[in-house]
Amino acid sequence: MRITILATTAVSESLGPLQDILVCPTCRSDLENAEDGLCCSRCDTFYQVADGIPLFGIFGESSDFSVQSEAGQAYEYKFTSASTPQSYDQQFVDDSHKRTRTEREVRILGNLLSRTGRVNAILNVPCGGGRLSQPLAQACSLLVEADVALPQVRFAREHGDYSEVSQAAWMTLSAFHLPCVDRGFDGVVCARLIHHFSEPEDHRRLLAELCRVAKQFVIVSFNDSFSVKSISRRLRGRHNPHTLNGALIDEMVRPHGFVLRTAPAVSPLGSRHRYALLTRS
Ligand SMILES: [Zn+2]
Repeated sequence: MRITILATTAVSESLGPLQDILVCPTCRSDLENAEDGLCCSRCDTFYQVADGIPLFGIFGESSDFSVQSEAGQAYEYKFTSASTPQSYDQQFVDDSHKRTRTEREVRILGNLLSRTGRVNAILNVPCGGGRLSQPLAQACSLLVEADVALPQVRFAREHGDYSEVSQAAWMTLSAFHLPCVDRGFDGVVCARLIHHFSEPEDHRRLLAELCRVAKQFVIVSFNDSFSVKSISRRLRGRHNPHTLNGALIDEMVRPHGFVLRTAPAVSPLGSRHRYALLTRS
């Protein structure tokens, strides 16, 4: 067991399903009880538990935890702002184009997850406001919703649809340093994150970390460099370092024991965003 008996019943109940999965994101050692939080048994880093939500979101506190690109840093800043989650998720309700896109993404996730079969535990990072959580909740017994900042996670907990999952938990974390044991989750879903980073090294590091904690599969969405939109931008001399493609992703995940199985586009006509299903080879 990774976490010893917790200080209060409330905290114990909220962390229950995570007990065998969580480790210190800094050094990956076991975590122990501390007042109002968890403490690493090796490096002594303290992680607060706020209202049942473990806070592992430590972006910016150490250069080792930072992303490489300026765009990535801007992304961190934007999404650690307390005012962001509601307005960001509200866009997907107010804007009919984005609402249609959400419906397509939910359908794609449902289709990909039907290929992997029902599993015990899925990590959803970043969960945002829970916009894409429903098909994940239908595909597992334990859904862990995680994002970089507490306001995002609180928003997801209040507004997401978790009616079809038997257990759900929420936490903050850095997707580059997941506070999880190797193969701690059957599946990891990472939607709309990797295209915020422009450095290939960030792409590689993020994919490696997702693969590390996934026992069976990773689903990761990306902007496709071979889409009509991307090719047209290149023809106009506008290089976009934020794009990837299936072959590149496959090459990046093979050293970690995964292969790309399929990567459907959100919309066959014009969309450059795709969802890649990676499974252990
Ligand atoms: Zn530690």
